[in-house]
Amino acid sequence: MRVNIVGGGIIGVVCAYYLLRSGCEVVLIEKESALGSKSTYAAGGIMMHNCWNPRSGLWHEFAEQSFSANKRLEQELFDGSINKVWSWCGRLHLATNDKELTTFKSFYDSDSAKYDCSWISEADICKVEPSFSGHSVGGYLNNGEGKISPLDLIDLLVDEMSNSKNFTLVLSESISEIIKKNEFELAGVKSPRGNVYYADKVVFCAGAYSTSLKNINVYPKKGQAILFDKVPPPFKKITYINGVWFVPRGESFMIGATVEDDNFNEATNISGLNYILSKATQVAPWLTSVNTSNFKMIAGLRPYAAQDHPLIEYDSEYSNLLWVTGHGSNGIFFAARTGEIVAAAISSGELCTV
Ligand SMILES: Cc1cc2nc3c(=O)[nH]c(=O)nc-3n(C[C@H](O)[C@H](O)[C@H](O)COP(=O)(O)OP(=O)(O)OC[C@H]3O[C@@H](n4cnc5c(N)ncnc54)[C@H](O)[C@@H]3O)c2cc1C
Repeated sequence: MRVNIVGGGIIGVVCAYYLLRSGCEVVLIEKESALGSKSTYAAGGIMMHNCWNPRSGLWHEFAEQSFSANKRLEQELFDGSINKVWSWCGRLHLATNDKELTTFKSFYDSDSAKYDCSWISEADICKVEPSFSGHSVGGYLNNGEGKISPLDLIDLLVDEMSNSKNFTLVLSESISEIIKKNEFELAGVKSPRGNVYYADKVVFCAGAYSTSLKNINVYPKKGQAILFDKVPPPFKKITYINGVWFVPRGESFMIGATVEDDNFNEATNISGLNYILSKATQVAPWLTSVNTSNFKMIAGLRPYAAQDHPLIEYDSEYSNLLWVTGHGSNGIFFAARTGEIVAAAISSGELCTV
């Protein structure tokens, strides 16, 4: 079976990998000249059980399943060896005042019943993450959480897939039209240059840009972050403090992010920079000594769906068109589970429930 995937962000690439593995012939079509260059590029890649309140419901359920799916994929690709894609470095949630401390304590109380968590007193912060010592009154550490490096994962999966004659990657090709086979099915997709890609099934993974393909209830939420490029992070754990996240990213680190309604405007701006820097320097004064030529602003449009879980659904009009988007702030973390669901859906013709 030949499947066209439109969109080569983390979701499209991971779906391509699982579909290829399940025996499909896959054509992955990306508008830009590089994979993962939109929302995926700007992401911290954090994996956490309880994204936010409510700490239940389908979104939360998807997070639970995503942990297992990431462990399965990591095991499959690395067989237990150390790698630079997944880091189970732990996630710290540090309070800066008593009100936050009470809230985080309640999170800790519910999380520690299920996960490997530790409560960190004010006095112990210097042992766990000295970079934030003196700026927090305490918090908690979830030891089992971590992060994914999305661009390293993309490189790795594309390397793996490139060995297969059933995989074709098409870059710098924007899909603008669908080609109908009949009233109920697609024959394929087409670019403005007139290139036609025929397929048995089509999977749209175009993230926040999905509405340009067909009317669908997905909308963008801009996120800006600061990337400290080639500045080794002076902290080890993913740390939330004072309303911002500090995320180690290999030999670099990032701090973010804003959550903005700015339509399809992907540009970074001075107010984004000021917002993040003002919050971050209050709790990490060491930032002021980082050379400004080492940092840059990055931004992406998170794809949000108007429901409390990602959109993984067959199209209401065409029975061989599958929509896979709407992963919001968690697309990197949710990608592996999404790939599993999509591969199962394409081979069986039915979607499993989350
Ligand atoms: C600042 C920031 C921080 C984030 N942090 C995290 C985090 O810590 N953890 C986490 O899990 N998630 C995080 N996210 C969210 C995550 O980035 C997204 O959920 C995820 O990248 C969505 O992946 P995607 O493949 O659906 O979208 P995208 O990465 O946007 O990919 C969509 C692709 O489709 C292509 N495309 C669009 N239209 C067409 C077309 N017509 N033809 C061909 N190709 C097309 C685009 O060029 C693009 O490459 C963050 C996002 C931002 C902005």
